[in-house]
Amino acid sequence: MSFLTPEIRQRVEELRTLVQQASYAYYVLDNPTMEDTVYDRLYRELQQLETQYPELASSDSPTMRVGEKPATGFSSVQHKIPLYSLENAFNTEELQNWEKRWQRQLSSIEVAEYVCELKIDGSALALSYENGLLVRGATRGDGVAGEDITQNVRTIRSIPLKLQLDNCPSLVEVRGEAFLPLDVFQQINQERLAAQEQLFANPRNAAAGTLRQLNPQIVARRKLDFFAYTLHIPGQDNLSIACTQWEALELLQQMGFKVNPNRTLSATSKEVAQYYQRWDTERLNLPYMTDGVVVKLNSFSLQEQLGFTQKFPRWAVALKYAAEEAPTRVENIAVNVGRTGALTPLAQMRPVQLAGTTVSRATLHNADRIRELDIRIGDTVIVRKAGEIIPEVLRVLLELRPPDAQVFQMPQNCPVCNQPVVRTLGEAVTRCVNASCPAIVKGAIEHWVSRDALDINGMGEKLGHQLVDKGLVHSVADIYELTNQKLQTLERMGNKLAEKLIAAIALSKTKPYSRVLYGLGIRHVGSVNAQTLTQQFPTVEQLAQAEINEIAAVYGIGVEIAGSVHQWFRIEANQTLISRLQNLGLQLKAEIKETPTTSLTGKTFVITGTLPTLKREEAKELIEKTGAKVTDSVSKKTDYLVVGEEAGSKLAKAQKLGITCLEEAQLLELLNN
Ligand code: NAD
Repeated sequence: MSFLTPEIRQRVEELRTLVQQASYAYYVLDNPTMEDTVYDRLYRELQQLETQYPELASSDSPTMRVGEKPATGFSSVQHKIPLYSLENAFNTEELQNWEKRWQRQLSSIEVAEYVCELKIDGSALALSYENGLLVRGATRGDGVAGEDITQNVRTIRSIPLKLQLDNCPSLVEVRGEAFLPLDVFQQINQERLAAQEQLFANPRNAAAGTLRQLNPQIVARRKLDFFAYTLHIPGQDNLSIACTQWEALELLQQMGFKVNPNRTLSATSKEVAQYYQRWDTERLNLPYMTDGVVVKLNSFSLQEQLGFTQKFPRWAVALKYAAEEAPTRVENIAVNVGRTGALTPLAQMRPVQLAGTTVSRATLHNADRIRELDIRIGDTVIVRKAGEIIPEVLRVLLELRPPDAQVFQMPQNCPVCNQPVVRTLGEAVTRCVNASCPAIVKGAIEHWVSRDALDINGMGEKLGHQLVDKGLVHSVADIYELTNQKLQTLERMGNKLAEKLIAAIALSKTKPYSRVLYGLGIRHVGSVNAQTLTQQFPTVEQLAQAEINEIAAVYGIGVEIAGSVHQWFRIEANQTLISRLQNLGLQLKAEIKETPTTSLTGKTFVITGTLPTLKREEAKELIEKTGAKVTDSVSKKTDYLVVGEEAGSKLAKAQKLGITCLEEAQLLELLNN
């Protein structure tokens, strides 16, 4: 058992208050104060602490309750059979844990079948039928007692007022989910917006709010719908009506209920996982919201053997879709120094699972952004990560701010080289401007050796960092003064590897001037701009001496790029670097190309989309061999547009301008001629 500290006790209290408040706002007021995923995380944390420290257990903890006590306005009804909630699983691993758990609870290992249903994001309803006639409709409330909303339920067209079943048992209880189709939800919110009423946060709250409308005419207008998923005969076990959940669903359909058609029977948890994955994307095409899938043991006799906990059936689980937002605590704010010297504050957070990955760091961009969001060390924040997107902090949960939360200060000195940092007026970024700052040098080397720059094979990030840390390299020029002997002082560097590296370094000296210019890492000079610049300024001296307006006049280069290039060449350290590179034998002037004069000489081509066989660079090379130019954007001066798959706006523009468009095969034919 873990040792209980006053901090943990306090955290549990804090979580109980928060979850309780949120749950009241959600279930009673139909007006949530936090995102569901945030609620789920806080709830989970509370649940885990209560399991870890059983001495903190309390019967009035929100983890012990289903929903909330009914609100006023409707009379309260006692449910004949309690309405339970569902245990959550957030990934397939948790699904397997649930499977192991129910298997352990049975005396013999059973081979079981699962029914997978979509988890409709609406509001649970309990419908009572007496002698086949609808006599009561009630909300779930706290699971024991709900609100009598019969008048409202009668307005839902998909709920039969009379069951289509001969020999109906005298009492039948049907449970299911009332929901609002997405288009209706949007329409309601539009009407509320026009009437300056508060908007519903989501279709689920809108459905719950609608069901608890005191005026049934409004309910009727809102077109609620209903999917049935369970039935009971009070006083009897379910086996008296069907043997399995699957049969029960079919029976419900025969009785006249709408049953969601997207259900399936699965023999293994692997099949369940496939269903779950499939619906993660397909659910987006449904006209109603779902927030997961519900997995139930099909056999009623197994269900009976397993029974219920205080809150959930043990034989079912709600497998929810991965959260893209979650709360977590900012444990520290570190500062990273990038290749350009920009200082980027990074939130170091308690790890959370988001969109299928563990997230523990998020960029905070700059000091202004931190101030804007008012993020302090110790704060609980909401982080978001969707798919491949870099995690970001969305906002702070101020109600969770501890008294000792620390305000972040941007350092005055670079955390890497300790030299003073600079923040230019009007810029959000704080920078280290010391060109020999190891962080900047490391970044510069990484960029210099990269594929589109000098492409030095074998000199990866790790090696570059080692060279700087060992003091062997202080600038990219130093790479060319490395010797086999010097290299062998590095970890795991033998003679052979060192030789290979020296050869790769030597080979990089033959790379064209445009790649060298790109490799210098001048702000805004990407590989395309570098090529444009080297075409217009065929020697580095010409570029270094050019005035801003001369550079800006080059087609495709604007004032911002020109300013950045101009400024770079005015810095003494950069001038020294250029002359060193020149002395070391790097290419700092454009090769004078001896291109033959052909019918295409002087023509301008643009390439768009993905070509079926040629890579962009290959096509470009072939075109340029004829003395033609390849530029980036379509203009009146363009002669040909080479069109590949997924061509974008360039194609439309070219068509508008009446420019000849060529497919790859046509291009090759033209070039061959
Ligand atoms: P739940 O919605 O996670 O799952 C149980 C419910 O699923 C059942 O009551 C039933 O109505 C429904 N359901 C839908 N399709 C079903 C099917 N095919 N078979 C069986 N049941 C099906 O649980 P809950 O207790 O109703 O609510 C808890 C959830 O509500 C939390 O996980 C959270 O996301 C949300 N919540 C949010 C806040 C907030 O502040 N945002 C507060 C409280 C609760």
